[in-house]
Amino acid sequence: MRKSSLQTGKDTPIDRFYGIGEKRAEAFYKLGIRTAEELVYHFPRAYEPRGNVKTTAEAEDGEVCSLVLTVANEPKTAMIRKGMTLTKFTAFDEDGVCAVTFFNQPYVRDVAHKGMTFRFFGKVKRDKPNAPAWEFCEPFEVSPRQFKTEKKEKASVSMASPIMEAVTPRGVLRSLVPVYPLTAGISQKLMGSTMKEALSAVSSETDGISEFLSENLLKKYGFCGIHEALRFIHMPETLDDTAVAVKRLAFDELYLFALAMMLSKDGEVKRVDAPLSVIDRAPFMSSLSYRLTAAQMRVCDAVEQDMTGGTVMNRLVVGDVGSGKTICAAFAVYLALQNGKQAALMAPTEILARQHYEELSAFFARFGYQTELLVGSMTASAKKKAVANLASGISSFVIGTHALIEESVRFQDLALAIIDEQHRFGTGQRRKLSEKAENVHVLTMSATPIPRTLAMVLYCDTDVSIIDEMPPGRQKVDTFLVNESYRERLNGFIRKNISMGGQVYIVCPAVEEEETLEGESGERVSMSDLIPLGGAREEKTKKKAATAFAEQLAGVFPEYRVAFVHGKLSGKEKDRIMTEFAKGEIQILVSTTVIEVGVNVPSATLMIVENAELFGLSALHQLRGRVGRGKAKSYCVLVSDSKSEKARERLKILCATNDGFKIAEKDLEMRGPGDFLEQNYGKTRQSGEFDLGIASLEGNVKLLYTAFDEAKATLADDPALEKTGNLELRKKVFSDRAASRV
Ligand code: ADP
Ligand code: MG
Repeated sequence: MRKSSLQTGKDTPIDRFYGIGEKRAEAFYKLGIRTAEELVYHFPRAYEPRGNVKTTAEAEDGEVCSLVLTVANEPKTAMIRKGMTLTKFTAFDEDGVCAVTFFNQPYVRDVAHKGMTFRFFGKVKRDKPNAPAWEFCEPFEVSPRQFKTEKKEKASVSMASPIMEAVTPRGVLRSLVPVYPLTAGISQKLMGSTMKEALSAVSSETDGISEFLSENLLKKYGFCGIHEALRFIHMPETLDDTAVAVKRLAFDELYLFALAMMLSKDGEVKRVDAPLSVIDRAPFMSSLSYRLTAAQMRVCDAVEQDMTGGTVMNRLVVGDVGSGKTICAAFAVYLALQNGKQAALMAPTEILARQHYEELSAFFARFGYQTELLVGSMTASAKKKAVANLASGISSFVIGTHALIEESVRFQDLALAIIDEQHRFGTGQRRKLSEKAENVHVLTMSATPIPRTLAMVLYCDTDVSIIDEMPPGRQKVDTFLVNESYRERLNGFIRKNISMGGQVYIVCPAVEEEETLEGESGERVSMSDLIPLGGAREEKTKKKAATAFAEQLAGVFPEYRVAFVHGKLSGKEKDRIMTEFAKGEIQILVSTTVIEVGVNVPSATLMIVENAELFGLSALHQLRGRVGRGKAKSYCVLVSDSKSEKARERLKILCATNDGFKIAEKDLEMRGPGDFLEQNYGKTRQSGEFDLGIASLEGNVKLLYTAFDEAKATLADDPALEKTGNLELRKKVFSDRAASRV
């Protein structure tokens, strides 16, 4: 293994650092890290509060903290099961004793010896509050006489696989230790030590990272310098340090993102050789049993302009559930078909695709066009026939699921691709559909209202149409916020709704398995015990375990059919249950949030959301949109036992208004852009689309706008970033852009 050389800089390859051989370097590559600079931009996701030191008397049962203890006897290792060893010893502080155990870490014997003092960080267990420790510990080799006598019998705790650090007269132990996202082959320890080297490499005078924000910006907003920010994020002494770092790094991210977007916008408009012609709308409009709302009309106008102009359409239609987006899409299809072209509509689930198909195939048949359905569950021969009809041009329109983007699907002359519920698809999937032909116009639809300002920022390369008006005569879904004490009445309300012919949705948040940290087999510390990168820990609420809750409900309502849909079911299974629910064969549908967006069950009259405080407002609003689709009066009940004033205040907004855009605006205001996007577009973040990274931690939407305003100002003064003062900024923007294209 090579030692790091002294002449290092930001471009120093990762394998030049101490202890990084070929294999470990590969592991770093997997994380997208090749150089010192890339490494220092790999931020912790949490910190272990190791500076939170308690005594054996103070630590509460289950508390995650540090104990400073002296080893009382030599560690002993026993084989407890095949391939599993248990190493244990007793240690003490002046208040009491602690049984320390390690699973499969026999080397602890070589480190810990009688009389040595360590800081142990982990979860403290108070097994039997009043029992003396020696009941379950090895016999003492150091006399426990050192205990304060009055506490002697009280303090008796244990720790399983804690992190241990030697307390020496010289060394200062860090009070906040970063926890990094890892991959196989890299431990926290290795990441931490390599990070230290990388930090010193990137601060090299000659080849290090240079400041790229202008003096003016740093002063105006009081940002710290880039080196300070990087040091603070990786080696903070206090939480204030991390806050200072996050503020600066979050701004960087948004500002660079804005600059990159603005710089790339020009010139990317695709021109079409033969624009479509404007068609006579009258037959389309008069075939409807209602008049389009003004908002729907605006969308149709915009779509017509896009598709008949000289460039390729890239338009997003955002409208609340039930605002009538489908008919706008149908108008675009009509325009394409009347021009002799083909169109495709992709929906995220089979059931949605089928619903669209039933409605739209009949609609277009009236104009003499044939529509195909293409979904996974069709027989091979049915699929083949549909594919053939599209390739030959016999059929003009196809509605389907992901099946549409399969290689075998070809078109005779595709001009329009529509993506329904766009946030359910990844960018790649969406692109695949539009790449089925040249110059395909793209129309995407989203039912998650988004504040106009945020839409402009996030989709600055897309045209956005907002449908902010509901068709007339829509009923308002009455919404209530209750706590557990209403459970009995709530059950009565469920019965009442069903007896009147209604159906009930009950949504529970998915209970994820808690992530535990590397290197342990016993119980230790989970991520939720740590301080997240953004700062203070949130109030922990008890989540309803959905599975147990569903079983319990089935017991409460033996007279009804209760079904449970959750993430682990196969798509087929989910669709089957949804279909049964839609047919009215199931009265109560318990689900984690997988209820298919857009599915129409007009007889559902009651939506109950458990642990409502864990959902974003817009997500709740969407769930509420599942009911009130028929004639019967419908209700939404938010159940929350949260004591947090803020949480209750947020939920009350839903009780007060049914306007999705107002709700989104409030949600954004109260939570900041990161949380807002994460909670309401959970999936989107995974697909990396608006991964705001560290910026999501600055819970302040103003920062987003500030960054965009500053980017605009920067480019107004220097459109191509060519001035000498912007040299470093230019390098940064372009190198980041190159990296993100990979
Ligand atoms: P979403 O925006 O959630 O996709 P849909 O397009 O499914 O909403 O429309 C919901 C319902 O409203 C449909 O039954 C549709 O026929 C009806 N609808 C759409 N536009 C109007 C309108 N302008 N007036 C009356 N009903 C409408
Ligand atoms: Mg829809």
